[in-house]
Amino acid sequence: MYERILSPIEIGGVIVPNRTVRTAHATGIGAGRLSDDLIAYHEARARGGFGLTVVEILSVHPTSPASLNAFDPTIADGYKRMMDAIRPHGMKLFQQVWHAGHNGLPIDGSPPWAPSDIPSPMVGIVPRPMSKAQIDEIVGAYAAAARLCRDCGLDGIEIHGAHGYLIQQFLSTNTNVREDDYGGSPENRMRFLLEVMRAVRGEVAEPGFAVGIRLAADLTSGGIGIAENRAVVEVLKAEGLADFINLSLGSYHSFPKMIGGMHEPVGYELETATPVGERSNVPVIVTGRFRTLEEADQVVRLGQADLVGMTRASIADPDLVVKTRNGQADRVRPCIACNQGCVGQLLDPTQRRIGCAVNAAAGFETTLGDDKLIPTGQQKNVLVIGGGPAGLEAARVAAKRGHQVTLAEAMPDLGGALNLADKAPRRQTMRDIAKWLEGEIYAEGVDVRLSTYVTDDDLAAFNADHIILATGAEPRLDGVQLSHPGEPIEGIGLDHVMSSNNLLSIPAVKGTNALVIDDVGHYEGLASAEYLLQEGLNVTLVTRLPTLAPHMRTALMVDPALERLGNRNFTYHVGTRVLSVNGQSATLQPVTGGDAWQVNADLVVFVSLNRPRLELLDAIERAGVPCTVIGDANTPRFLVRATAEGNAAGRTL
Ligand code: ADP
Repeated sequence: MYERILSPIEIGGVIVPNRTVRTAHATGIGAGRLSDDLIAYHEARARGGFGLTVVEILSVHPTSPASLNAFDPTIADGYKRMMDAIRPHGMKLFQQVWHAGHNGLPIDGSPPWAPSDIPSPMVGIVPRPMSKAQIDEIVGAYAAAARLCRDCGLDGIEIHGAHGYLIQQFLSTNTNVREDDYGGSPENRMRFLLEVMRAVRGEVAEPGFAVGIRLAADLTSGGIGIAENRAVVEVLKAEGLADFINLSLGSYHSFPKMIGGMHEPVGYELETATPVGERSNVPVIVTGRFRTLEEADQVVRLGQADLVGMTRASIADPDLVVKTRNGQADRVRPCIACNQGCVGQLLDPTQRRIGCAVNAAAGFETTLGDDKLIPTGQQKNVLVIGGGPAGLEAARVAAKRGHQVTLAEAMPDLGGALNLADKAPRRQTMRDIAKWLEGEIYAEGVDVRLSTYVTDDDLAAFNADHIILATGAEPRLDGVQLSHPGEPIEGIGLDHVMSSNNLLSIPAVKGTNALVIDDVGHYEGLASAEYLLQEGLNVTLVTRLPTLAPHMRTALMVDPALERLGNRNFTYHVGTRVLSVNGQSATLQPVTGGDAWQVNADLVVFVSLNRPRLELLDAIERAGVPCTVIGDANTPRFLVRATAEGNAAGRTL
């Protein structure tokens, strides 16, 4: 069934065992080094059957430091250890080779190096246009990095010519306004790229070491589109400079397109990739939220590409390929493209390390992988109360370790808050992980009791040695906005006010003009607004916070939502609070004070930080049963924390 995606392919004399690719992605795992944890992260996926991995950016020069650096004296030893670990599994390893240009900050604090003095939208520091000598220095640095990779036994390299980094900055008229041989005409703007490719080829010419390039449409007007990338492919083809072409999408002008969330359809990058790849006479890699071998096989079958990037899918389940090949596609833990762990944690300045909302072990393979679970020496009767993601993960792990697990869930379905989250437009994949966890706990023999609301009086009958309390959290409909905690919204008790949970669970919404009050800054406010618009209401969203949904920004979810909401009957006010609601209208005021004004509002949705459901805790303590509180019942946060705490609870019983 998967014969195309699982068939080998030759790239520059390298035989790649199948066509599943893990494209380069920053992890933060090594914190600047090729650490044992980073090697274990890749090794787990090599063991899991992936064909090719492109390792995250290797910087060629100190003017653009990265998590891996060609000028790091320890890197050669790291590569040796990595190749020793990966080789036995058959997966091939290419290294992505990179310079950020204006998207980087030199180690010595000097301005970024770039073709012209046009700053990056992300870094916002005016770069210094590179001199000819600096251009030559960087071209030489690419060649030296290529030699390093070959000498250290890697199978190839990928020159990063996409995502708005240095090479693409030279290609684009938006970032290259030079008047010398490197700017102006398309030929001149391509000169830097060609000098890099020729220098690299000159350094590592032998077959058996692949050299390719990553290209992407940058989605800016005047920038790099299909035509420009086709022109690059034609020139590379004419000179035989590339052994493969890897096609991606986006730049820092369109960051959410680089790592499309669940709102994007599977294969969303094909539209800009396939017309470019068609021009290539060497293997083409595409990417774009592919999750299953079935989807990837179809890409190859339709001739849209030769290899398929499945990066986030591999983060969610390192064993995706092996499981599918062995007839267990339904056991593959699905990536839900929530971007909470993989991108969100990486970009979060307090964390700077990849995680995964569905796979607690991602980035912690040496300690947290399912293969590291230690069977219990002392089987316990474990009662898990609550079948949301935290409870389900705890039950799964505890049962895997050999405990006798009962899970009680008040509702007729498992999934908890995920069952509400998936009701919002473009959030349907949230439920996929609930379905997977459900399948897994049944497979592990958990005794599941649905429609079972556990009260104080029921506890004794379960005869539990340990209780895991995963009862989630309740909306707090008290009208308190944290900017003015002593001044709850007047009229909050009226019938037309509801929580986002209510909104997503009632059969029909009544009203014309809705007001969403988001006191939290997660996704619920935006989800409620989009849901109400879909139901035909006009929507005003008000938040005391200075930006919309600030906690969802690192997951790259806010701008795409605004793009969808922008053309509709949607208005929003940041830095604003609600003074009162009365059934017809609401009175708003800037949080800093000043004139109040009114908006129409015959339906009000109040999104607040929920209150943990801990009613059972006293009775559990009185009964003297050891108890672990996890997930939203501990304190409400994102799915990634619910999964992590569920995993830890099951692991430590
Ligand atoms: P988390 O994200 O922490 O897993 P959720 O809110 O998703 O939290 O899930 C909590 C689940 O616990 C819900 O499905 C809810 O129905 C269930 N629940 C809450 N209280 C009880 C109870 N007393 N007995 C059984 N199930 C409960």
